[in-house]
Amino acid sequence: MHPDWPLSRDLVLIGGGHTHALVLRKWGMNPLPGARVTLINPGAASPYTGMLPGHIAGHYTRDELDIDLVRLARFAGARIVFDTACGLDLMAKRVHLTGRPPIRYDVVSIDIGATAELPGIEGFTQHAHSVKPLGLFASAWQSFLEKAAMQGRPADCAVIGGGVAGVELALAMAYRLKTSGLAEARITLIESGPGLLQATSAVTRRILMRALSRSGITVLTGAQVTRISSGAIALAGRESLPADFIVSAAGARPYPWLAETGLAHTGGFLNVGPDLRTLTDPDVFAAGDCAHLTHAPRPKAGVYAVRAAPILFENLRARLSGQTLREFAPQSDYLKLISKGDRSAVGHKHFFTLSGRSVWRLKDHIDKTFMARLHDLPAMRTPPPPRVRALDEEAETRSEPLCGGCGSKVGRQNLISALSGLPPALHADTITGAGDDAAVLRSGARLQVISTDHLRAFVDDPYLMARIAAVHALGDVCAMGAAPQSALLSLIIPRMSDPMQKATVAEVVAAVSDVLRAAGADLVGGHTSMGRELTIGLTVTGLLDGPAIGLTGARPGDAILLTKPLGTGVILAAEMRGLARGKDVEHALASMQRPLAAASKILAPAAHAMTDVTGFGLAGHLMSILEASDVSARIALPDLPVLPGAEQLSAQGIRSSLWQSNASLEPRISRPASPISDLIYDPQTAGGLLAVVPSQSVTGLLSAFQAEGEPAFVIGRIEEGPPRILVN
Ligand SMILES: Cc1cc2nc3c(=O)[nH]c(=O)nc-3n(C[C@H](O)[C@H](O)[C@H](O)COP(=O)(O)OP(=O)(O)OC[C@H]3O[C@@H](n4cnc5c(N)ncnc54)[C@H](O)[C@@H]3O)c2cc1C
Repeated sequence: MHPDWPLSRDLVLIGGGHTHALVLRKWGMNPLPGARVTLINPGAASPYTGMLPGHIAGHYTRDELDIDLVRLARFAGARIVFDTACGLDLMAKRVHLTGRPPIRYDVVSIDIGATAELPGIEGFTQHAHSVKPLGLFASAWQSFLEKAAMQGRPADCAVIGGGVAGVELALAMAYRLKTSGLAEARITLIESGPGLLQATSAVTRRILMRALSRSGITVLTGAQVTRISSGAIALAGRESLPADFIVSAAGARPYPWLAETGLAHTGGFLNVGPDLRTLTDPDVFAAGDCAHLTHAPRPKAGVYAVRAAPILFENLRARLSGQTLREFAPQSDYLKLISKGDRSAVGHKHFFTLSGRSVWRLKDHIDKTFMARLHDLPAMRTPPPPRVRALDEEAETRSEPLCGGCGSKVGRQNLISALSGLPPALHADTITGAGDDAAVLRSGARLQVISTDHLRAFVDDPYLMARIAAVHALGDVCAMGAAPQSALLSLIIPRMSDPMQKATVAEVVAAVSDVLRAAGADLVGGHTSMGRELTIGLTVTGLLDGPAIGLTGARPGDAILLTKPLGTGVILAAEMRGLARGKDVEHALASMQRPLAAASKILAPAAHAMTDVTGFGLAGHLMSILEASDVSARIALPDLPVLPGAEQLSAQGIRSSLWQSNASLEPRISRPASPISDLIYDPQTAGGLLAVVPSQSVTGLLSAFQAEGEPAFVIGRIEEGPPRILVN
């Protein structure tokens, strides 16, 4: 989002397919001021089709295969929503999603690919895989390989569909099985038609048939699959086949929900004109496999999805800004490069066919160049600082951007010194004031806790930010062992048009209310205003039946428990610089959204002291307990849980804005130098509960956590001595 330009149009991209990935890259280099871009995709990555057979054969890692949509979205200034679209309301201009409220659009573009599922075959959904979506298939193949290696008996695989994709897949699978020590495995290629590879030239067919035979792949033609059960495929009029792993590459089928949108389609694929707009609605575009080019029908191939990208990019901008749209003229044929499993391939265009290792090298070069375009994104320009500026200002305007979330908190020491000047409480009802997670007030016969928190947005998704802000704010109440009661919302949103504002506020309120209600609390009011950046805060109250759990009760011999892995600060800091893996960001966001109420209920009856780990990091929050209880702590480094990717990013020297301030505790901490031990200073947003519990209660508590499906980690113990932390 461009913070200085009021937002007035919502562009929503459904699906992170090849076309949209390239559109995002172009958008990052030339954004349209005033347009908010949203990408909806089920996960953080979308595999690149050209490298899928190579990945299945073991030539490329999963990271090499995946287009990182989070990095692309960050580059484009787009928000990414990890969800699946399931419908379009053309009248209300809303995209319906499976996991959250609908998202509004002014212009929407659909690039969701196709599927090879065969739901008409009994047992397919339960016992077989579709090659598309490619990502799910790649994961299923990896799990199968690991299982097959453990079982130590010959495995049977079956590929349904004898077109180019099926043949390429079967060859890749055969090569991988052979090179993984599973040479005894058998592969059968099943085709219902009279022969394989009907869409290729006779020479290409001959070369590939030879490769199939050399790889020991059994080919069945004229074979109709009638039923799939666990470990077997039934064929019409033939003996059934044993099969441990079954994949369908039998053509491209449309996702069924497209036909239910009311948009005109051909066999379920959306009819688009030369400008890639659907013929039914000028604000709905479609590209890639899910579209049917009415002016120039083409087979479903990635090359057309890629070539459509520059036109789609320009036409989306044109539609959003009232300009003239351009026409897409797809080429009539393209160079088909088909890999043969080992590092050789067949190339075919018009009447020419070439085969061998040099063709593989050409394909490898083309594919890697394509991926490099999406990975090596051009550096974004930052305006130079003013030449004359106030003294000491340089340190405050380092080239690195200020982190969001808890990474932008004010340092612990500055806060302690400010609070130390507060006068004593005026009211006898104030049991404890500032200094602990929440203040404790007397409310009639009961105790009430009250706390406030706000977060500067680190993702441009108001719904997601609101969920995290609510979980984060409830953390203070949960840390005191209180039952969440009510909350006030304080919301600052960037300037935007009235319809966008309405939708944004609705998203935030829905998300906050969802999280609060799940925790047993009500949203009872709040305040909204417009400002430079999205900031969401909550003031939360909770009720206690007994005394509040504070920081003072830790005793020597107690165990220290943590309920979420560390690393949100370093991952978010890396993400802002475009250096984090999208999948790691996805994990971190999921961890931040995990509520603490269940963990609090388990820990509260046992905890001697408890707090939540947020901006001051594990070290800062643990030190607060140690200072209040006058004890020291020993942390076992190997037991520290960290989020995927956090250790690598820490090793690269990436630090959240608040890290340095948190590390001012270093003189009171003894620790080995290591990327993981650096994470004790990593500021956490919506981090876990840090509880000090009697050592004899640990086994029971861990069983209770397991029964609830909640994570919990024993990370160390309390010892006698002055407040210090020993990490070893
Ligand atoms: C084994 C194999 C090899 C192939 N090799 C080649 C080749 O060498 N050259 C070639 O040109 N073509 C090849 N193809 C065809 C190629 O895969 C497709 O044409 C290409 O992937 C289409 O790209 P796309 O942009 O339409 O969508 P895709 O690349 O399929 O991406 C669609 C994205 O949308 C997401 N999505 C799906 N549903 C939803 C939803 N409801 N909401 C939100 N997101 C959603 C998916 O998760 C995915 O990220 C091959 C196909 C296979 C199976």
